[in-house]
Amino acid sequence: MKYYDYIITGAGAAGLMLAYRLAKDSFFDQKSILIIDSVERNADDRTWSFWEDSDGEWDGLVSKYWDSVIFADSKSHLKLSLSPYRYKMINSKDFYQEVWSVIRSKSNIKFLKQEVVNIIPNNKNVEVHTRDMIFTASKLFNSIPNPENYTKQNKYPVLQQHFVGWFIKTDTSCFDSSTATFMDFGIPQEGNTRFMYVLPISSNKALVEYTLFSKELLNYSSYEAGIKAYLERRDIGNYTILRKEQGAIPMTVYPFSTHNSSKLINIGTNGGWTKPSTGYTFNNCSRKTLDLLNALKGDSNLKRFDKITKFTFYDMLFLDVLSAQNKLGSVLFSKLFHKVDVKTLFRFLDDSSSFKEDLKIITSVPSILFIRALIKRLFSFVTQ
Ligand SMILES: Cc1cc2nc3c(=O)[nH]c(=O)nc-3n(C[C@H](O)[C@H](O)[C@H](O)COP(=O)(O)OP(=O)(O)OC[C@H]3O[C@@H](n4cnc5c(N)ncnc54)[C@H](O)[C@@H]3O)c2cc1C
Repeated sequence: MKYYDYIITGAGAAGLMLAYRLAKDSFFDQKSILIIDSVERNADDRTWSFWEDSDGEWDGLVSKYWDSVIFADSKSHLKLSLSPYRYKMINSKDFYQEVWSVIRSKSNIKFLKQEVVNIIPNNKNVEVHTRDMIFTASKLFNSIPNPENYTKQNKYPVLQQHFVGWFIKTDTSCFDSSTATFMDFGIPQEGNTRFMYVLPISSNKALVEYTLFSKELLNYSSYEAGIKAYLERRDIGNYTILRKEQGAIPMTVYPFSTHNSSKLINIGTNGGWTKPSTGYTFNNCSRKTLDLLNALKGDSNLKRFDKITKFTFYDMLFLDVLSAQNKLGSVLFSKLFHKVDVKTLFRFLDDSSSFKEDLKIITSVPSILFIRALIKRLFSFVTQ
């Protein structure tokens, strides 16, 4: 049984960001660190986008950014200036290459390509079982998804941000590459929250995604039919599909941190670092891995690392409403984007808005829906 100070299970966005930060900080040079993943990610398997209000740590990897975005529904079309924010895009291949080159330069960090089959915390440390080996660590950072945690409960609704995206190249100029389409609800909603998300890379190249916030996934062909219909509606006929991507990201306020202990902390989507009301995760991974490094330096109890805030409560009510009446997504987002400045919305979604800003957002959506959800929640807390 080989011992490491730290083991990171899962080398995706969160695991690799943490390893990258540990590698860059000489404070951790004496720590033996093992990363385990069943695959070694190095391809363009996903595109990460996020907003930032200034220059950012990952700017060297940003392949494209936008200073304005479009919000649209069946009745309106808003072009919104983001300044001083920027909506930025990173191709995963560039991210993997950069972080791996830093991680590989450190002799105290090893990578093992194996499937993890069990994780067993005991009194002194944590055991990690792969198909043919067992390791122990004094601290384990686990990003391997464990959907059973949140699918086998019914206290908190679980929606998913699910989508299929095509990178397309058109024969003629079809896109305004200075503006990303954040949400276009002008497509049949079919009882759900459905929208198009379009990231134009140039006038003839774009990522076009058919996206839902709902409980159930669709057949793969339905997403593709949605993309085709959207392109037809925009009179985009001659195009080549360069690459496809798909995802299903859990949206829930299920308290993931209850599975943390002083020795084991769940990170990334598996640690509840996905913003429940949007599915955005990349920026949270960046912030939280920084906080985690500081917590490790202070030898803090990892059990207290993730905290419940007022934003958990807002997310809970939002998901309660969207889960009970999934068709209302278009109306809710439309009210938000029409009545609230997009920068205030970004601060709210970044969990950094003031109470005054929160009030502006809360009063922009139909209050009756949220009051009903609040009463239901209070009732469930009293009766449990
Ligand atoms: C296509 C796609 C696009 C996305 N776009 C955005 C975006 O634009 N903006 C944003 O903020 N978020 C986005 N997300 C959401 C989120 O940022 C990503 O899912 C992100 O990769 C989550 O990081 P993670 O480390 O939690 O999980 P992952 O990156 O999925 O890492 C988990 C790792 O665990 C490994 N693993 C799983 N099981 C085992 C096992 N048994 N043994 C060993 N290893 C195992 C996997 O191989 C994987 O490498 C997107 C997600 C997808 C799928």
